[in-house]
Amino acid sequence: YYNDSTIVFLNGEWIPAAQANTSLYNQTMHYGNGIFEGIRAYDTPTGVKIFKGKEHYQRMLDSAKLMHIKTDYTVDQLIELSYELLQKNNFTNAYIRPLFYLGPNMTLMPVEETNLFLCAWEWGKYLGDSLLRVATSSYQRPNPKSCHVEAKTVGHYINSILASTEAKQKGFDEALMLDAAGFVAEGPGANFFYEKHSCLYTCPLGNILPGITRNTILDLAKEHNIPTAVKLFTIDDVKTADSAFFTGTAAEVIGIKTLDDYTFPLDWDKSLGKQLLTAYQQEVRK
Ligand code: PMP
Repeated sequence: YYNDSTIVFLNGEWIPAAQANTSLYNQTMHYGNGIFEGIRAYDTPTGVKIFKGKEHYQRMLDSAKLMHIKTDYTVDQLIELSYELLQKNNFTNAYIRPLFYLGPNMTLMPVEETNLFLCAWEWGKYLGDSLLRVATSSYQRPNPKSCHVEAKTVGHYINSILASTEAKQKGFDEALMLDAAGFVAEGPGANFFYEKHSCLYTCPLGNILPGITRNTILDLAKEHNIPTAVKLFTIDDVKTADSAFFTGTAAEVIGIKTLDDYTFPLDWDKSLGKQLLTAYQQEVRK
């Protein structure tokens, strides 16, 4: 993720990545209360552009608010710092990782001091390019009555790690998780869509991270006159579908070959997912 020349931002200072250290006595480390984002910058004909920076940083500030994490940073300031980060590292295509973590304090009560760490690295597609073999997870998404599932909180990712690990251990590439009521929710780090009879389906907000790529795909589908429906559905619905894919900033759009023992019958190259992957790759480089 970094080498000797990598520069990061920590609490107002630009420093070499190896010098970015923190106290082990903090609430984020022990109890998982921190907020992060995953953002991509792309090389475009008019220079490096951060894709949907406003949306990502607004989600970060909203997440912080929900978790009672205080910050004075504005969306515009965070975007500006992110461009500076890319410049300092000479990155043109990069993944940007901002993190709000809390200052030294081991309480379960709100902590006053928030630290901002910003780093970036050049990263290929998370989950790769090959079609995925996905397993229905035995882990549900966190109960929205127990936490703010729509916040991108550090601690929520233990759920993702458990689901991904279980899928890998069973010999699959990735997991698909249900919500507490048994409807399909999302993957450990990506939202889920399926195609049936030339219509795209994805689940509503409520049990998932409100994915920015999910919104972009719904917008692009509209532009391409592809019908979409946002509704609750079950694993059985998915197992009668023609095709399916995950969406996320890191994963972009990645096709799914199988779910458990079900093989999606439609050739990926002829699917709406593939059409939208192509449209997405053009959109992010505009
Ligand atoms: N769900 C989860 C649990 C995620 O971690 C991510 C990645 N941020 C997504 C969905 C996709 O969100 P986005 O499109 O905003 O990257």
